[in-house]
Amino acid sequence: MTNPLHEALIAPLRTRADPLLHLSDGASLSGFEFFAMCARAAGALRAAGLEPGDRVVVQAAKCPGTLAIYGGALAAGVVFLPLNTAYTPDEVAYFLQDSEAGLMIAEPAHAPALAPIVADCGTRLETLSSDGSGSFDALAAAQPDTFAPVARDPDDLAAILYTSGTTGRSKGAMLSQRNLLSNAEVLVQEWRFSDSDVLLHALPVFHTHGLFVATNVTLLVGGSMIFLPKFDADQVFEELPRATAMMGVPTFYTRLLEDPRLTRKMVEHVRLFVSGSAPLLAETHTAWEARTGHRILERYGMTETNMITSNPYEGERRAGTVGFPLPGIEVRLTDPATGAEVPAGETGMIEVRGPNVFRGYWRMPEKTAEELRENGFFITGDLGRFQPDGYLEIVGRQKDLIITGGFNVYPREIEDVLDAQPGVLESAVIGVPHPDFGEAVLAVLVPQAGATPDLNMIEADLRQRLAGFKRPKGFEIVPELPRNAMGKVQKAELRRQYGQMFKPAAAGSLGRRA
Ligand code: AMP
Repeated sequence: MTNPLHEALIAPLRTRADPLLHLSDGASLSGFEFFAMCARAAGALRAAGLEPGDRVVVQAAKCPGTLAIYGGALAAGVVFLPLNTAYTPDEVAYFLQDSEAGLMIAEPAHAPALAPIVADCGTRLETLSSDGSGSFDALAAAQPDTFAPVARDPDDLAAILYTSGTTGRSKGAMLSQRNLLSNAEVLVQEWRFSDSDVLLHALPVFHTHGLFVATNVTLLVGGSMIFLPKFDADQVFEELPRATAMMGVPTFYTRLLEDPRLTRKMVEHVRLFVSGSAPLLAETHTAWEARTGHRILERYGMTETNMITSNPYEGERRAGTVGFPLPGIEVRLTDPATGAEVPAGETGMIEVRGPNVFRGYWRMPEKTAEELRENGFFITGDLGRFQPDGYLEIVGRQKDLIITGGFNVYPREIEDVLDAQPGVLESAVIGVPHPDFGEAVLAVLVPQAGATPDLNMIEADLRQRLAGFKRPKGFEIVPELPRNAMGKVQKAELRRQYGQMFKPAAAGSLGRRA
């Protein structure tokens, strides 16, 4: 009887005396100390009445105890279901009802607000605190330091991660043991991870990037992590000198670049910087290389598929691309209307097939059937294009595609041109309803510090570079773009804000029209 993921990630810790987690207060946890925490968490999950296949919802601060619940859930065969710590109790109610979780583990401060909700859902509530004072901590403390792992099949679920859907109901992506293990194995190989790696971990652990990519890779090779509660530039600069690798979202890199402490000397011990979860601007890529001598390795993935493509470890890491399909993973580009593959070099819907692709959406068979083809290809919702030598470019989400006067406009193309304009730090291009064109292109610009972009000059330059239908019909200047915890620009939020812009009644009330 086996439990492949537990055997690969957690079981080897039992005999590891060296540090697995380096904490921000200078303390560390050895492999076997963490192993015992996982075993006690597994015992506590069982003591709380959970059987294999039951769900545990965890909404707690990032700390070793939270990560140990993941390890414990693997041992106990319980499905780990982490939630973004920003969700309000009302939002949590949906996840509890939808997942029919047997247990929710929350921070003590949130317990009073959650109590009536868990009661309604018939879910048990326990609390976890980074100082060890929660009720789940107490339950775990009373458990033995070993736990006989429950047998699991590679197709059994290890986790459910809810997608951060901006429209409609959030969907629970069911991830199997095979999905997670196959992806960790591939990434270890591709990115050359070994037991001497020390990963600077400043990502949240409720999302695929911090939970699976960063953590599973480190556990699989027997490396260690500098486990920071969140991204904080001061802490990152304190820890970078002893790290060999860092995984981040693009905002980590732009924030670090704003700081004079980022130097070649600061990162001389680091062998690899990885970026993903949102597009890395080519400008950031170039600026990072100029300052540090490192070319950031950009990869592409999503909750439902784990990682799909990566720039090469050896070979050219090409800015503005996400590299090649990972070994064992197929990527094809199709016409969203017909599903037929598009000719070489054309833009199409990115579809992916492989052992990394999830098992469907929790209790949403229709949604699953819409997005997961019978032949195993998952329709990602992202549009992409292969360069002649095989590098994949992400053009944007299909739902962000703008159709104006019958023509398709891919926001990324316009954003790239806008980002290069003098005085512009970054931009987001959206389609907003327009009485004549159906949709009109609207550009939202963030100025560089202290700069005021000259819109007349920008428009004149755009006339040289872009066809008329692609040029923004209006500009908005904002201090910053709305982003979620993973640094993704929230285009739905921008559309909500500026959706009225070209309605006749709103004429002249907002922004600037071309
Ligand atoms: P999530 O499920 O939250 O990880 O979001 C997945 C989505 O993030 C993908 O479908 C892409 O739209 C986007 N994404 C992830 N990595 C990249 C990348 N390197 N470049 C552009 N978009 C990315």
